[in-house]
Amino acid sequence: MKLTAHFGPIAPGVYVWQPDGGAAWGLANCGVIRAGGEALIVDTPYTPALTDAFLAAAREVIGAGTPLDRVVVTHANGDHTWGSQQLPGAEIIATQAALEHQCVEPTPGQLHALVHDSDPDQPLGWYFRRHFGAFDFSGITVLPPTTTFTGRQELSVGGTPVVLYEAGPAHTVGDLFVHLPEQRVVFAGDLVFAGDHPSHWAGPLELISAACRRILDLEPEWIVPGHGPLLTPDGLRKHLGYLDNLAAQARLLHGQGRTAPEAARLLIEEDRYPGLGLPERLAISLSTEFRHLDGNRTVPELLLPMEHAARIARDRAVSAEHTGQPDADRTTAPEAIPIQTS
Ligand SMILES: [Zn+2]
Repeated sequence: MKLTAHFGPIAPGVYVWQPDGGAAWGLANCGVIRAGGEALIVDTPYTPALTDAFLAAAREVIGAGTPLDRVVVTHANGDHTWGSQQLPGAEIIATQAALEHQCVEPTPGQLHALVHDSDPDQPLGWYFRRHFGAFDFSGITVLPPTTTFTGRQELSVGGTPVVLYEAGPAHTVGDLFVHLPEQRVVFAGDLVFAGDHPSHWAGPLELISAACRRILDLEPEWIVPGHGPLLTPDGLRKHLGYLDNLAAQARLLHGQGRTAPEAARLLIEEDRYPGLGLPERLAISLSTEFRHLDGNRTVPELLLPMEHAARIARDRAVSAEHTGQPDADRTTAPEAIPIQTS
């Protein structure tokens, strides 16, 4: 199977690499900013092979004389940062919180084991094979950020201003978003998902909504989400409606004494958010939200909400099979490179 990715300009000197992958984990959008003989990368893909494809497309537009030696990492999830090793010696810029977060993220070796050594008959093993099985996590060295900041950081790319805003804790504890005031573009990282349900790990949801409102206040023309198609401000406002509705539903269902996975199943049954892929991720964002509603401040357990999501997805796949319906969430295997760019 072949992954296709689109690479092209969205504003003068601003390019986005968008892998096609509706209802897919791990296929993040990446960016390149080019101006005055300098370049800046925003996020790198999940694996070396995906990163090489992205960088080949990037080098074509920036030209041979411009080094790719600076990367901004929007947060410490592997699908946005594990490609950094393909740019040896590059400056890697992230929030201080992202640096600390990186230490508790699963390693490439652990993900490899979850895909290959887990029990395929158990929900988690089934789910990891299905959604992560096509990524090759071997040979990845996770590079920590070399430059960190808190609050706000201004950069210049060949004289073009780039402003980084710390926005975590939100999707993770260490999020940032990237604002290009002259081009009116924001790279939002996973503060914003388009097309699929988000999976928010740090929360609470009101902090993610607050970050989205900060992005809207900057009056961008385009918002590049961490995953999925580009959004206009109207599209982001619609996504804000989703986040606010989900927070309200969480309060309601938590107040009724439901567990997070029960609440996720109910919202899916009600088809409350039609048209969004990976609905089982509601179990992850709701686990996060319920943890806050419970006043639980311990470091979140990552695999448990993932297992809740896996159980929901498998139950849905089994029931789709029994009723003869197409399995809408069947993901496409992402990594059979070569990537076609267009
Ligand atoms: Zn992501």
